[in-house]
Amino acid sequence: DIEIPESHPRYRSLLTRHRIEEGVDKGITSKQGLIAEGRGEAFDYLLGERTLPAVDEAERAAAAHLLLAERPVLSVNGNVAALVPGEMVELAEAVGADLEVNLFNRTEERLEAIADHLRDHGAGEVKGLTADGRIPGLDHERAKVDADGIGDADVVLVPLEDGDRAEALAAMGKTEIVIDLNPLSRSAQSAAVPIVDNIMRAIPNVTAHAEDLRDAPREELARIVAEFDPERVLADAETAIRSGPMGDAEADAARTED
Ligand code: ATP
Ligand code: MG
Repeated sequence: DIEIPESHPRYRSLLTRHRIEEGVDKGITSKQGLIAEGRGEAFDYLLGERTLPAVDEAERAAAAHLLLAERPVLSVNGNVAALVPGEMVELAEAVGADLEVNLFNRTEERLEAIADHLRDHGAGEVKGLTADGRIPGLDHERAKVDADGIGDADVVLVPLEDGDRAEALAAMGKTEIVIDLNPLSRSAQSAAVPIVDNIMRAIPNVTAHAEDLRDAPREELARIVAEFDPERVLADAETAIRSGPMGDAEADAARTED
């Protein structure tokens, strides 16, 4: 095990990378998961490794959707399980959602390892092993879901989902919340709620919003959902990426000097 000093300027990013490596060693994360992590790091660097204000609004809208849902499901893949297992369990509890393991490269071993890992972090029932439902329009292995899980869900949170499956889930009429650091990816673009943020920051913040909104009347939740604008999140994220990691900091510094 390596020790990363918290004072290291890239502490969080190194911690994230280390968790993914451990996930691969434990048989939770696939090798392709390492590549996905690298892509995510690049976008997070360009975003300045922070949650943009419009993205915080997306995280609040996600919490409102999950609280309003009849059958919310949180999807968990190998990267999600390695990075935020306990945080996913906490979010599931905060909004009354089911957890379902849902893999791009599906193997029984990895499904079982991830379900065990989630239970080690406090999960009760973990779905995804029955695989008696199908997502229309996808090839056999990629289409598998639990009929009483993602198959029957009205709201699904799919972090780091690939574009094909994100589009197919949206086409089924589900309200889709996507977490993806790339605002140009089809996954983010097909989402009702695109969360362009690192999952390490996103999940705890959605949970915090859910706790804040727990006793809110349904009309207020419905208003948050209705006022949310996915296009603005994607546009703000793209603007932030184009101006680079120092873009806003420089702008802020210039304003303070006035
Ligand atoms: P498609 O083009 O079909 O959408 P893809 O080429 O984007 O697929 P992947 O490389 O599997 O397929 O996508 C992984 C996505 O997950 C990337 O967009 C990456 O930015 C994002 N990602 C990786 N790590 C994280 C993370 N920690 N938090 C949020 N998003 C992440
Ligand atoms: Mg993608």
